[in-house]
Amino acid sequence: MADLEFHQFNCLDDNFGVLVHDAKSSTTASIDAPDAERIREELQAKGWHLTHVLVTHHHWDHTQGIADLKSQFGCRVIGPAQEASKIPTLDQTVDDGDTFEFGGEKVSVISTPGHTLGMINFYFSQSGVVFTGDTLFALGCGRIFEGDANMMWHSMEKLIALPENTIVYCGHEYTLSNARFSLTIDPDNHELKSRVKEVQSLRDAGKPTLPTTIKRELQTNPFLRAGDPAIRAQLGLQSSSNAEVFAEIRSRKDNA
Ligand code: ZN
Ligand code: FE
Repeated sequence: MADLEFHQFNCLDDNFGVLVHDAKSSTTASIDAPDAERIREELQAKGWHLTHVLVTHHHWDHTQGIADLKSQFGCRVIGPAQEASKIPTLDQTVDDGDTFEFGGEKVSVISTPGHTLGMINFYFSQSGVVFTGDTLFALGCGRIFEGDANMMWHSMEKLIALPENTIVYCGHEYTLSNARFSLTIDPDNHELKSRVKEVQSLRDAGKPTLPTTIKRELQTNPFLRAGDPAIRAQLGLQSSSNAEVFAEIRSRKDNA
């Protein structure tokens, strides 16, 4: 039975770092490598030795620390096959549906294209944890840089299909600005209104708003709620497809 520890910390302006540790096998993974120096500090504070980096996508703020960490620790770098040409430090490439073992636990790879075309998410089903990179954020989702809205909606559907109690870690602390925007899309959602207050007080106290859960996002994140009748009425899109409703919400956020 795996018993992984998940340690989240902030780095750069608004990125999250997360270390995943298995004491029994003394293995530790960094989810992405936004900032080698900060990751080193957290490893040192925990007394952990880095053995793996799990990379979600090629963007600079997720990969810039890899080479530095790799030369220090000789860690194994696992990342998206479809972005291998953009991430020269990869030791192992993985794609949708692949699984690999980490710390006695099976990790499943879910491809979630849209923000980038090769984006992958890592699902630890035994621990009930998913790392969504820049695909799903608390009360938001990533900007669509390389794919299109239809593709991104299908990626959302894959995450919606995970068990509701799945814990979600993501790449950025964008929750407060997402919260303000969410209210313009779903103004009468009581769960959303109370969550926005909670997010505000967490940020006022300098605390992170992550991790979240799939259940909470299903209740409050407008980007996962394209099928909701109140949101459809609010947008005047009662007879549109879920992908079209999602696309409208995404374009409103891009122009907000
Ligand atoms: Zn990104
Ligand atoms: Fe990012």
